[in-house]
Amino acid sequence: MGQTLFMPDIKNICILGSTGSIGRSSLDVIARFPDRFRVTCLTANRNIELLNKQIEQFKPQVAAVLDPAAAASLKHSRNGSPRILEGQEGFVEAVSRPDVDIVISSLVGFAGLRATIEAVRLGKTVALANKEVLVVAGAIINNLVAKHGATLLPIDSEHSAILQCLTGEDRKSIARLILTASGGPFLHLDKDEFSSVTVDAALKHPNWKMGNKITIDSATLMNKGLEVIEAHWLFGLPPEKIAVLIHPQSIIHSMVEFVDGSVKAQLGIPDMKMPIQFALTYPERVSSSFHRLDFTEVGEMTFLLPDTRKFECLDLAYEALRQGGTAPTILNAANEIAVEQFLGEKIKFHQIPHLIRNAMEVIPSIDHPSLEDIISADHAAREFVRNRGRQFSSPTTTFAVTR
Ligand code: MG
Repeated sequence: MGQTLFMPDIKNICILGSTGSIGRSSLDVIARFPDRFRVTCLTANRNIELLNKQIEQFKPQVAAVLDPAAAASLKHSRNGSPRILEGQEGFVEAVSRPDVDIVISSLVGFAGLRATIEAVRLGKTVALANKEVLVVAGAIINNLVAKHGATLLPIDSEHSAILQCLTGEDRKSIARLILTASGGPFLHLDKDEFSSVTVDAALKHPNWKMGNKITIDSATLMNKGLEVIEAHWLFGLPPEKIAVLIHPQSIIHSMVEFVDGSVKAQLGIPDMKMPIQFALTYPERVSSSFHRLDFTEVGEMTFLLPDTRKFECLDLAYEALRQGGTAPTILNAANEIAVEQFLGEKIKFHQIPHLIRNAMEVIPSIDHPSLEDIISADHAAREFVRNRGRQFSSPTTTFAVTR
């Protein structure tokens, strides 16, 4: 007696940034579905200890390491199995392999740009956790997606929520997107106290467990600002149709308001594994064992408008989006360095937006930038903030902050 079992095609996955927070959660999701997913490439910046454990468990065809010394050390210890690639070129080679169907782009910041662009150019499915890629090169990526038939799926929970709300809807019927934000650990802190915020306090996110850079971005609301820019490129809406709403419980992950006044929201517990799984199985929904939302436990959901006088980074991001060109690149690069300097206790928390504003004022934005223009703007902004930051942290220099 013949029996036909439905077996989904096995998808081969390359993870850019497998040792980071999203990379680890992605592997957790992938490990639950051995009949659906196979890991062919793992990549990391320098954490070869964890990468080595992941190689043991998932047995990829290749692994790539950004840092040359770390790559050499891993190559030595693995002794040819798997093949170890190195540097940005190694990342590009990893995503370009014909046995890669889905690229999970989860490197922090600017680092994943080239490899992600290459994956799009080759028409792959890209599950994007690295919002900075769209922030700096959204126009270039959208053109390549259209030209090469690639599929771009958000892993960011807000954008995953919006994608879910838009399923079955005509894009013309969108009135506005409403991105929710927890408000971070300093939602109720007085602005005067921002100058004495410690790194430890800023790293304590109330709801989400994430990497350091994005946790600081959540505390300044820059994360939401970058997400506004990300939403602009993913869903093709102008800045005035993308709103931000503070929702401290992080149960509604985002909403879409339609032209008839109806609003759709996507809800769930705050766990990145859910949007990761949705991106990997899209457009299918697959049964999971994640915790379920218990409304009686949630109790109440509250909402308030963001205070941009307190959280200037959000306004800066809107300003960069309106300016266009390389302005978002300058915003993003200045923010990366400012956050790095805050984490290294070289500048104060409240100086993060000042440094970004200074960079945006001093470095001219170029319209319709090429990738080279974007890379130059990125370098210029980093250099600028490094120098200014040094002046901020020097006790002998008095420096007038432009506002
Ligand atoms: Mg998010």
